[in-house]
Amino acid sequence: MEYKRLADVYSKLESTTLKLEKTDIVARFLETVEKDELEMVVLLITGRVYPGWSSQELGMSSGLMAKAISKAYGINSKEIEDEWRKLGDLGLVTERYSSKKSQSRIFIKMLTVQKVFDNMRKISGMEGMKSQDRKLDLVSELLSSVSNPLEARYIARTVIGDLRIGVAEGLLRDAIASAFFANVFWKETLEQKVNGDIRLKVMSRSVTGKKIVVDEKLATVLEKKYGEDYDMLKSGNDVVVRQIKKISDDELLKKEPGIDYIFFHDVSIGNETKSRIVSSVEHAFSMTNDFSLVALAAKDGGFTALAKLKMNANHPLKVMLYQKALTIDDAFGIVGKPAAIEYKYDGFRLQVHRTDDTIKLFTRRLEDVTKQFPDVVSVVRENVKARSFILDCEVIGIDMKTGKWLPFQKISRRIKRKYDIDQTVREIPVIINFFDAMMADGKSLIDVPFSERRKHIESVVSEGDGIKVARHIITDDVEKVNDFYKESLSKGNEGIMMKNLSAPYKPGSRVGYGIKIKPTMDNLDLVIVGADYGEGKRVGWLSSFHLACYDSDSGEYLTIGKMGTGIKEKSEEGTSFGELTELLKPYITEEKGKTVAIKPAVVIEVAFEEIQKSTKYSSGFALRFPRLVRLREDRMPEDASTVDEISMVYGAQRGRG
Ligand code: AMP
Repeated sequence: MEYKRLADVYSKLESTTLKLEKTDIVARFLETVEKDELEMVVLLITGRVYPGWSSQELGMSSGLMAKAISKAYGINSKEIEDEWRKLGDLGLVTERYSSKKSQSRIFIKMLTVQKVFDNMRKISGMEGMKSQDRKLDLVSELLSSVSNPLEARYIARTVIGDLRIGVAEGLLRDAIASAFFANVFWKETLEQKVNGDIRLKVMSRSVTGKKIVVDEKLATVLEKKYGEDYDMLKSGNDVVVRQIKKISDDELLKKEPGIDYIFFHDVSIGNETKSRIVSSVEHAFSMTNDFSLVALAAKDGGFTALAKLKMNANHPLKVMLYQKALTIDDAFGIVGKPAAIEYKYDGFRLQVHRTDDTIKLFTRRLEDVTKQFPDVVSVVRENVKARSFILDCEVIGIDMKTGKWLPFQKISRRIKRKYDIDQTVREIPVIINFFDAMMADGKSLIDVPFSERRKHIESVVSEGDGIKVARHIITDDVEKVNDFYKESLSKGNEGIMMKNLSAPYKPGSRVGYGIKIKPTMDNLDLVIVGADYGEGKRVGWLSSFHLACYDSDSGEYLTIGKMGTGIKEKSEEGTSFGELTELLKPYITEEKGKTVAIKPAVVIEVAFEEIQKSTKYSSGFALRFPRLVRLREDRMPEDASTVDEISMVYGAQRGRG
């Protein structure tokens, strides 16, 4: 496939903000993609060249991309920087220079999606000193092969990991469902009278000429209502009336051999069918963390193929996230009674995988940290009695002098440490606390109730010095939970978790299957989405940081304030302006004057005096006196505090006031 076709799709996606429209654009495009190119195309639509479970990133900063532009078009860097500042987007900058060069392009061979994909994979695999030049070559090779400046825009944006087409996971899931399964509707969308004729319309588009199935009930209703008109409608389309009793009818719902739309009389059946299709796609994604495999399976063999996709004990799963409640009563209201109550340990989360002799450890950001924790690997090898599994745990550090548990900041050093590992193992020993199980003996456990997953942990883990099953009670009694909460805090934990005993494990979702309770005026985890360069002694450093929380419904980051305190001048004193600037620089996507936009990547913990309502920021809230507490390297931007949580804390403040 020519890359131009993909670039056109990106551009269409960019031109609308409507979710349904975007879903439709992706779906109609995916329908047309050949099988052997589908995986590649799906990955590129997610803006990546490796699936979600892989921590391989393209890893080119905007600065390096600017150099690639300079190399490809022979423009000096100063001019590119000025242009970048003006247009605020390196994609647009690249497109501009590309269009200036376009005359000489007549004889160029078409740039294919395959070529773009191959070069990008090469870039992401490169490390070391010399790799920079090679990366520049690979990008400028692509830039000089485009037939249309639009392609250059999206090559640049893909390289810096900022595609800006607004295709989040939920949208891609719906698009795959719509591309490879029949589209299910109900009568309201079917019948529309246009100039006296009834027409079939879906999403305000006529679907004349399509293969359509209507259920018997709807056929009878239409016949009664429209008489002869109904025959006309039938003759304009290939309408088949079917007795649809079983909504799990695979043949019926699979797009091939050629049913385009299914119309049900009852909204509820239509809805149910639709959600069955979507949830089978979602489930397949939960298992694999790879939309490219999911799309291929859906195209190839519908439900049956999706259901066959297996979890792979080497590929990290997205972790399940938890909601927050302010009171034990509220938490019981969400997880039901009785519930499991556990310590909320203040360490970091590890996903432990084993297949035969290989043990691997992943952080919640899905980074492989096996090398950093040889002690965890050997404790697991000796004390978990199973050959193949995926387990979830919280690892806490121990203070060698006092024997007490260390707070997260101390142990976080071990995550980053790449050398002298043996020494850190001795300095900061750890305890592993298992709290969930997602796979056992090669079989997925994500659909079995939590109570059974817990039993599984208890049956395979032999507790010892460095290895425990999370402390846990089952109760429906608020008083007992209260005592347990106090006990947990007195041990230095962050709070407690309350879990629904019959809930499944939902990778990547923040569902109410587990609720965390911590002391109320807690700090927030926020994402840095922009910053301003400083003046005077801070010139050259980013000095004021624009903070955002996460909206889990829309997948967007909503601003909540600016922060300039708590950051140190010198790095010996803690997180410094210099360190933050270096950390954020690769993620800068736009520069305008002193202000930069930053791709959501860095999460920090922020303390504050109060949350206030505000029209100034997109979250609708503002923080009074925000102050940096620490970097949260273990968190992905989606793990940041949600706008719902913030609204809850805001409500609690007022209640008290
Ligand atoms: P939070 O990071 O505040 O969203 O709280 C959720 C995190 O608490 C999880 O991602 C784990 O890293 C950690 N945690 C500590 N103890 C437990 C536990 N018993 N069950 C689940 N998560 C836990």
